[in-house]
Amino acid sequence: ESADRLAKVIARAGLCSRRDAEGWIADGRVSVNGKKVVTPAFNVTSRDKIEVDGLPLAARQGTRIWLYHKPAGLVVTEKDPEGRPTIFEALDRMGLPRVLTVGRLDINTEGLLLLTNDGGLKRVLELPSTGWLRRYRVRAYGSVTQVQLDALKQGITVDGIQYGPITATLEREQGSNVWIVLGLREGKNREVKNVLGSLGLEVNRLIRVSYGPFQLGELAEGGVEMVKARMLRDQL
Ligand code: URA
Repeated sequence: ESADRLAKVIARAGLCSRRDAEGWIADGRVSVNGKKVVTPAFNVTSRDKIEVDGLPLAARQGTRIWLYHKPAGLVVTEKDPEGRPTIFEALDRMGLPRVLTVGRLDINTEGLLLLTNDGGLKRVLELPSTGWLRRYRVRAYGSVTQVQLDALKQGITVDGIQYGPITATLEREQGSNVWIVLGLREGKNREVKNVLGSLGLEVNRLIRVSYGPFQLGELAEGGVEMVKARMLRDQL
């Protein structure tokens, strides 16, 4: 049976960061099989009974959200039939617990993907009726005017599919491409690509920068950041 450092196991359970866990251990808040352990490097296996502040690890696992900066090239699926690399393999390597994703991003889409350990929260965040604002930065091949983009505020039907109001701001031109910032309150399949495609634009970079109250910010590509429970309560 494989052994892991105590601090890593506590962090992976979703309680806190690895650094926080090391602090908790040093402060004498953690016990293994009924004995206080103060060395973060202590090794444990899944058979060991870990308690934090006298409560078993499992009982301490409240609702968690993580912000994930998804890189391009990873699929948001448990097992890809074509064998392409998945986000779950990447998250596993980082020692994250098993998580659910809030919605999906296409393989080539980058940026903010919310992860949670709470199925109820996942559904609330995905519910169409809540209409959380999703913001994207998009690079597309072609040209467009702000007047054309303004028309998207009325919503648009593309290939028989109705899309809701979209705010779009032309940021700048870059060679044969334009950069656009979009705000959507729904997440239909390939929505950004289809809507901009109908204006003759070919999306070649798509970066989600926010989802509801959560921002990508300066989170590095491939990085994960846990949202503190207090902040979660304030924001939802
Ligand atoms: N719109 C798209 O076209 N793709 C995504 O991944 C998200 C929104």
